[in-house]
Amino acid sequence: MSSSKSFRKEEIAGKTVIDSSGRNTGKVKDLTFTLDGKITLIVEKNDGSEETIPLNRVLGVSDNVVVKEQIVPAMPVASPGMVICKSCGREAPIGTLWCPSCGKSLA
Ligand SMILES: [Zn+2]
Repeated sequence: MSSSKSFRKEEIAGKTVIDSSGRNTGKVKDLTFTLDGKITLIVEKNDGSEETIPLNRVLGVSDNVVVKEQIVPAMPVASPGMVICKSCGREAPIGTLWCPSCGKSLA
């Protein structure tokens, strides 16, 4: 199958959106594009909210639209003997009561 296949909006709209681990994410509601050529899918999620998915996250279109899962940034891991401030993400030695960077409580 060629990657240069083009799709009409009508072929995409209404399709179920599945992420790469097979979860049903929602349904394509609409497409938007910008003048510099970026296409974004408007997905109506199962809870009724809307999500925009840039076309570069779309892995394929068949009966469903398969999208790459959004990479959720991993929680930072503190170095040994350090804690991570929940407010600013900086490290401070364990036992420090107040973040030296932002002044918030580390307790
Ligand atoms: Zn802080």
